[in-house]
Amino acid sequence: MQEKIKSEGKCPFCGKTFAKAGINRHLITHLKEKEASGKPGKSFLVKVETNKRWGYSPYFLSLWIDCGASMKDLDTFLRKIWLECCGHMSAFRKREKRSGRDEIFDMMDEYLGRGNIVKYEKMMEEIDDTVPMSRKVKDILYKDLILEYEYDFGSSTELSITVMGEYSVKADKKIVLLSRNEPLDIMCNSCKKVPATQICTACIYEKEAEFCDKCAKKHAKKCEDFEDYASLPVVNSPRMGVCGYTGGTIDMERDRVSV
Ligand SMILES: [Zn+2]
Ligand SMILES: [Zn+2]
Ligand SMILES: [Zn+2]
Ligand SMILES: [Zn+2]
Repeated sequence: MQEKIKSEGKCPFCGKTFAKAGINRHLITHLKEKEASGKPGKSFLVKVETNKRWGYSPYFLSLWIDCGASMKDLDTFLRKIWLECCGHMSAFRKREKRSGRDEIFDMMDEYLGRGNIVKYEKMMEEIDDTVPMSRKVKDILYKDLILEYEYDFGSSTELSITVMGEYSVKADKKIVLLSRNEPLDIMCNSCKKVPATQICTACIYEKEAEFCDKCAKKHAKKCEDFEDYASLPVVNSPRMGVCGYTGGTIDMERDRVSV
């Protein structure tokens, strides 16, 4: 994928379009208004994007989450809109850097070397920063918290989840999709004239891997893998082209490129 591909999202309240960098700041103004007029309660504005460790990514979700939702509800939502291919494992983790972590790992190695499994497992438990799925978001989330999320511990998709704000109003439902990046301008790598609809996962590190339907037919003649198994649809998700991912099951009108 090209660097710095344009990423914009729509505001569901006023219909205006904003760049990825500005949409959440804008949504905050609406949620503050809601605090004055909506049902009293507690809710969060949460930004979801690809873990920055992997560089710039145009994908984002802006979610309005009610305090009654659980971490499992958020996990399910992320799977449905962006991730689910074949029921892989997933986890939320707290990001806090603990001092002395390397030393702890060294000690654990030592215990393992000496065959002291009990001690090893006890330390393993102590450093585990996984957030249980059963927890309510109200017990986990607070403003400025950043959580890491991983789907599929093999060909993993890593996300980062930032709590942008906390509001004294009930959200309209457990998880409301306020905004997401509109379908990206991913052009056919071959003819460069029309949007790509298919990706060849065998050629993903080559110059040409994303094709329009017409050029995909030509590619299938050259690339046996593409013909056999390596063809996946271009979809609006950071999991595009990974494992067997073929798209989400909610908000599907914004999942595919409109050709
Ligand atoms: Zn607006
Ligand atoms: Zn899979
Ligand atoms: Zn083409
Ligand atoms: Zn190919």
